[in-house]
Amino acid sequence: MRPIYPVAKVARTYSHNPMARPGDGTLLGSDLTYLSGIGERRAHLLASELSLRTLEDLILYFPYKYLDRTQIYPISQLSTGLAYVQLRGRIVSLEQEGQGHRKRLKGYFSDGTGMVELVWFNSISYWVRTLRQDTDYILFGQPKAFKGVISITHPDIEVASKAGESVGSFFPLYHTSERMKRSGMDSKALSGAVRRAFDRVQGQIPETLPGYFLSQYGLMPRAQALYAMHFPTDSAQLEAAQRRLKLEELFYLRLRMRLIHAERQAESGGFVLGPLGDHFMTFYEQGLTFELTGAQKRVLREIREDVTSGHQMNRLLQGDVGSGKTVVALLAMLQAVDSGMQACMMAPTEILAQQHYNTLTMMLRGQKTSVALLTGSMRKREKERITACVEAGEVDILVGTHILIEDYVRFHALGMAVIDEQHRFGVYQRSRLWEKNPALHPHILIMSATPIPRTLAMTMYGDLDVSVLDELPPGRTPIKTSFALERDVVEVRKFLHMQLREGRQVYIVYPLIEESEKSDLKSLEEGYDETRSIFPSYQVGMVHGKMKAADKEEEMRKFAAGETQILVATTVIEVGVDVPNATVMVITAAERFGLSQLHQLRGRVGRGDKQSYCILRVGPKAGATSMKRIQVMCDSTDGFYIAEQDMALRGYGELEGTQQSGTAMNLRVADLSRDVTAVTFAARLVDWLLKDDPTLSKEINTPIRTTLAELMTDAPDWGQIS
Ligand code: ADP
Ligand code: MG
Repeated sequence: MRPIYPVAKVARTYSHNPMARPGDGTLLGSDLTYLSGIGERRAHLLASELSLRTLEDLILYFPYKYLDRTQIYPISQLSTGLAYVQLRGRIVSLEQEGQGHRKRLKGYFSDGTGMVELVWFNSISYWVRTLRQDTDYILFGQPKAFKGVISITHPDIEVASKAGESVGSFFPLYHTSERMKRSGMDSKALSGAVRRAFDRVQGQIPETLPGYFLSQYGLMPRAQALYAMHFPTDSAQLEAAQRRLKLEELFYLRLRMRLIHAERQAESGGFVLGPLGDHFMTFYEQGLTFELTGAQKRVLREIREDVTSGHQMNRLLQGDVGSGKTVVALLAMLQAVDSGMQACMMAPTEILAQQHYNTLTMMLRGQKTSVALLTGSMRKREKERITACVEAGEVDILVGTHILIEDYVRFHALGMAVIDEQHRFGVYQRSRLWEKNPALHPHILIMSATPIPRTLAMTMYGDLDVSVLDELPPGRTPIKTSFALERDVVEVRKFLHMQLREGRQVYIVYPLIEESEKSDLKSLEEGYDETRSIFPSYQVGMVHGKMKAADKEEEMRKFAAGETQILVATTVIEVGVDVPNATVMVITAAERFGLSQLHQLRGRVGRGDKQSYCILRVGPKAGATSMKRIQVMCDSTDGFYIAEQDMALRGYGELEGTQQSGTAMNLRVADLSRDVTAVTFAARLVDWLLKDDPTLSKEINTPIRTTLAELMTDAPDWGQIS
């Protein structure tokens, strides 16, 4: 058997980052026990709790936020919700309480606006000796309320006149665990350890970018940037450090994606599909009931080029909901069938698989192309019959769920595999499909409706080629979207009655972000009961993620068949059902949904020729940002525009659907969705570099070569990069 080459490849692609490489025998790679204050026990704790083992690990363990040490808090405004505060004042009293292990030192601290309690359990005699009542102190700690009194345990305390000498004005805060805090490894202790680590490795932190990059783009040298990430002197310095490190991360991510892509192009052969034959031509000339859009034609040409190139195709097809991906996939699959090979299409759910099967059979009716369906819920005997036919080569196109990757599904000659809705499948599933043809990997087409801007997609899926269907088929009636406040409820009901009377179907969606949230489930069930009482003459169904898969499928089926007219649901319907007769979607508490999720949900209506509507019901607590999201939805149905607005509106977090990839790529500083400018800049830089120095052999690019060599377990053949 061939080794599972793609898995190894991809794992290698994703698991490294110039800032996350293993220690390598230099000082940077030495054990944390080299630092004073860190013995075996603490080293063990840092390894088990935070996976920090070497000095380099520690240096790369960045603070999650910083405290501005120039800000002094008045005690009168203290509350317990604050993380850390800095106070300035005097100790007004100090006394010891309790006996034995309950012994503690208690003090009162005043700044003239109020008083806080200070408590020490450790080093009591040291503090008794050191603290004076006639001295101004700067005090730093986390206020907690105890029996109505605000107190700070083990505050960080410095004489005011000397404070800030050794530290920048920003104080780093690190995530630590309870266990670490109990062993004295709190945020403060960690920052001390980081400082000592920097002292140790002085002059040894390698530069990973060439000098001319630094000078040309005004980038901070790496060693300086790493230090500033922990101990910035001001916010401008912190930003400069982040900018440098983000660029470095994104640059190497992109560079590695491009190299691996080139390597695979050179290494992995693919079936050369023959001329278009009966299967393709009959469908193209007789089966197609519409003219393909320009975008569809362009993508088909891209696919055609791939499958005739002699290399294996690995293409991501991005297209908004309704852009017509299915027919493109079918035309791709028929090219394989015309070459005497088979094709398969894998969907994330049974209902979607069933739907694809129905669509394909319908489109291919009267043709000799044979299509079969394979899903997990089928009877064993039926499954056996179908898999036997597939193995014998009697089935041309097999549609199914992830069951297709099971070992017992063997093809006679798989030439093309289509995966629908990429974000539900991982790299692993993809590689399992690769293995379905032991002779040569089948061509792979991945369809995704998650609109990700192109540069972002190319950085994230750099091992894939990207095609975009950026044009909707003509004649669509755009979905009318509006929002409704509490007071509009009667009007909304009237409207639903009207649509139902005309024979249309309605989705009513409730938020259930965490399927485990009991209150959400309750409001969904209440919504269901309410809907039934408001619309007594219609059948109402309900689906949510807590239901058994079979029950869920049954509810979906009933709605698709028109047996129920109203479907009360959670976001489980986001990917799935295609019910052209459903023309209204009401989204309850729309302010609780993300933009891209709203867009995906809305895509469930507007699938027929009737005018469709989306009503976003907004609760009384919706804030300004939520209202902006709602407005974006009312303004546009363009997924790419919405994705862009989404990124613009979000102050933090990641674009939905990319989260997993973000973590998998091990990015520490950069955020693929937020740092769009940096992503684009890094991409241009890499592309320029590979054009200027394709083999990376120029003297000035030595740092890149060295870094790459360290990143890659087996270096690629540079000669193949072009
Ligand atoms: P999606 O990209 O969301 O998977 P589909 O492939 O389901 O979209 O297509 C949505 C609808 O548009 C289907 O009913 C399909 O038959 C129709 N369609 C696809 N391409 C065209 C076209 N070029 N002209 C008209 N209708 C089209
Ligand atoms: Mg689709």
